[in-house]
Amino acid sequence: MPGFELFGDRERAEVNQVLETGVLMRYGFDGMRNGQWKAKELEKAFSERMQVKHTQLVSSGTAALTVALASAGIGAGDEVIMPTFTFVASFESILALGAVPILVDIDDTLTLNPSAVEEAITSRTKVVMPVHMCGSMADLKALKAICDKYDLLLLEDACQAIGGTFEGKPLGSYGDLGCFSFDYVKTITCGEGGAIISNNENYIKNADYYSDHGHDHVGSDRGAETHPFLGYNYRISELNAAVGCAQIQRLDEFLSIQKKNYTILRSALETASDITFRRVPDGGEESYAFLNFFLPSAEKAKAAHKALGAAGVDACFYWFDNNWHYYKKWEHLTEKKSLGKLPNEVIAQLPDYSRSDFRKSDHWMGRTISCLIKLGWTETEVTQRANTMVEILSTLR
Ligand SMILES: *Cc1c(COP(=O)(O)O)cnc(C)c1O
Repeated sequence: MPGFELFGDRERAEVNQVLETGVLMRYGFDGMRNGQWKAKELEKAFSERMQVKHTQLVSSGTAALTVALASAGIGAGDEVIMPTFTFVASFESILALGAVPILVDIDDTLTLNPSAVEEAITSRTKVVMPVHMCGSMADLKALKAICDKYDLLLLEDACQAIGGTFEGKPLGSYGDLGCFSFDYVKTITCGEGGAIISNNENYIKNADYYSDHGHDHVGSDRGAETHPFLGYNYRISELNAAVGCAQIQRLDEFLSIQKKNYTILRSALETASDITFRRVPDGGEESYAFLNFFLPSAEKAKAAHKALGAAGVDACFYWFDNNWHYYKKWEHLTEKKSLGKLPNEVIAQLPDYSRSDFRKSDHWMGRTISCLIKLGWTETEVTQRANTMVEILSTLR
């Protein structure tokens, strides 16, 4: 997955163009920038690649989620449905707005279970936020039908699945809004950065203003801008955007390397007994950023994870025990540990997650192993890795 593995001359050349003008800010300074508008250029390229009308770049993937929600008018007390398996950014972005994260179970897609989503809907629900974890997607068709039925917003977190598709559409472009991260370990990196995509002009205009203190960006005199609504600073810098300008041009090259490496590993693992693979919903094609599979029991999965590590097969994760990605280790959320007082709506509405029953999620996560697909492996390295994995997984007791 990580685009930093192939950081090179093109990235350096783009950054140098910015350094030569010295204009590191994405807005204003028109006379000094010598025609360089890296953030705007990346927004255009990203919209084209994602087949949407609009892109707004921001400072991170977490900022993208926060700004996307804000731009659609989500605020205090609104409920946002999200999965138990995701990154902490999902509930951070919701809580940042005084909205309430409603966790629901995942299924064998390792993403939102559509029937669990429907059961969790209340009169306060405003958004369904599927997270396309580890290179594959939620059942977007089923989720869209639910969103249409209850008049909810569908916001896709595609941070870990850039380049995957559903019914031929790039992930992130299927719902009302899509969010991406370009942090250092993502498929496309800017160092730090994020993007919101949408075909809704109003959302993206809101996102543009909101991520820059509510400035209206009308005309070229920044001092004359007014403020239609409150905002914050979630801007990306020109230096970060410049790296992205180089990386977006390499996305398809990265994706084909991911697919090639994934296919070698997967074909090998299909010969190992006891292994089954994560379900990809009908109509979906993975980004191949990870290879995800199930062992018959949690005990076997733990043993397999340990044995793989001991044999030097790196970058295989047992998320069930991971501090970042699974609800069991989010003690700050489950114990409501906040530096200051939480908004009243959150105090009143946030479920007590220390007592929740997510056994259906545990059933799948407890048995899951996810192996990161690297871009820098040589063919010999992947083949050796495949052989070692098959050997270990076939001899497990
Ligand atoms: C990385 C990631 C984010 C947040 O992105 P940052 O740029 O690191 O803030 C959000 N959601 C998912 C699923 C991610 O993997």
